[in-house]
Amino acid sequence: MQTLRASKCGLSTAQLPSSILDVIDALTKAGYEAYIVGGGVRDLILGLNPKDFDAVTNATPAQVKEVFGRRCRIIGRRFELAHVYAGRELIEVATFRAPPKKAVTSASGMILRDNNWGTIEQDFARRDFSINAMYYQPRKGIVLDFCHAIDDIKNKTLRLLGDPTLRFEEDPVRMLRTLRFAAKLNFSIAPEILEIFTPEMTQLLRDISPHRLYDESQKLFTMGHLNRVLPMLIDFDIWRQLFADISPDISTFIERAAINTDQRIQIGKTINPAFFYAVLLWKPFLERCNFYLSKGVVPAEARAQAGLDVLKRQATRTIIPRFAETFIREVWEMQTRLLNPKPQQIQALSTHARFRAGFDFLLLREKSGDDTTQGMGVWWDAYQQMTTDEKERAISQYNRQRAKSRRKTATEDVVETKLVAVEIEPLVNEPEPRSRRERKSRAKPERPVQSASSNGSEIGYDHPILKRKRVKRDLSQVVFGPTQ
Ligand code: ATP
Ligand code: MG
Repeated sequence: MQTLRASKCGLSTAQLPSSILDVIDALTKAGYEAYIVGGGVRDLILGLNPKDFDAVTNATPAQVKEVFGRRCRIIGRRFELAHVYAGRELIEVATFRAPPKKAVTSASGMILRDNNWGTIEQDFARRDFSINAMYYQPRKGIVLDFCHAIDDIKNKTLRLLGDPTLRFEEDPVRMLRTLRFAAKLNFSIAPEILEIFTPEMTQLLRDISPHRLYDESQKLFTMGHLNRVLPMLIDFDIWRQLFADISPDISTFIERAAINTDQRIQIGKTINPAFFYAVLLWKPFLERCNFYLSKGVVPAEARAQAGLDVLKRQATRTIIPRFAETFIREVWEMQTRLLNPKPQQIQALSTHARFRAGFDFLLLREKSGDDTTQGMGVWWDAYQQMTTDEKERAISQYNRQRAKSRRKTATEDVVETKLVAVEIEPLVNEPEPRSRRERKSRAKPERPVQSASSNGSEIGYDHPILKRKRVKRDLSQVVFGPTQ
């Protein structure tokens, strides 16, 4: 172990928010050891802006609770942690961990419970990468480096602590973390990891819960280097584990969306990870729509059912939360509305909660060479820049063109359009409830059957979806997820 001078690593307390100093000081005052550890230290040394700061201490979660009282909540079962609220921020305070006991690992070696408290040396050995295992005591101005992590930082190398095979078996999510940090920090992956990072190894990810994989996928999408990590996901065969039904090739649309996501993060804009899921699943969604259309299902129904099917399949890998699912289906449904809007609904559409995401999606499709958008991405782009008068003229012109093209099939009057407030129909209906309790509370006998065959391959001639005409639904129940 070497003790480094913090100032020599480019660290100073001036870079730290008062919240983390608060936590370190309170624990020290109560007689415990306390350090900043993990990504916060690593990023500061690298001159990056840390996402957050994690603290580690020899106090048990119960003792941390004693120090902070009502400001502290103990969370987690597999991994017990204290959450301390400091001002408006939340600091994660972990207790030094010893190696897990044999009885709490699965047959494949995966750690199932991990609440065996230990010393700082043991805690160090439990961490994933050397660069994530530096302990910074800001008040003493020192950094404890147990494995020459500082050299790995200098050489831009990602090195797992211990035997890479064992470390991946213990927690297969470390494979995702390897790619995430390699992409985020632009580090190279140590040869001993590359050697064992095989497609067979990635199979272990099947043991990880779809909830945890969703969280990890979100981290991949929002780290600011999505475009760099996507090809890595394919090269290392992780893609197949995360997105089973999405063919592993990066279309122009996906690439543009990834670049766009990274750029938004770079300029400090918020991003909604569900948007990228909407992009990834767009092709499977269209294919599923076509499948239903070919069976004679009416378009609106085909879209609704295809959306449910595709998300249900994806949920076997990464469970997308309900509000995010709704968001995705609304973005897809917006595509139809924006492509062929009723003139009198144009104004209402442009102020709809899902307009922005739907429009961004449409424009991305168009810029990626998707000519099925018929130039409507650019049309909506221009529309938003217009004055009220210009908007009215643009709508009238759009209306005339629309009527002209419609007249080819049916004669129709041209309706002069004024900008009036028109309510538009909700974009999607509430999906099937997931839990039994939810289902019970929403049980309505008259509600039509929504799901097609769950394996998703065939629907018979007598399938309920084919018998259905448009059914009047109870739309008062529709909920929208939060906009980000
Ligand atoms: P960032 O927050 O920038 O994504 P981080 O390194 O801080 O990166 P966290 O997920 O916040 O990552 O975890 C904090 C620290 O906890 C890590 O730096 C690492 O030391 C340890 N850690 C997290 N996940 C694992 C894991 N799966 N296996 C071993 N150690 C882990
Ligand atoms: Mg962190």
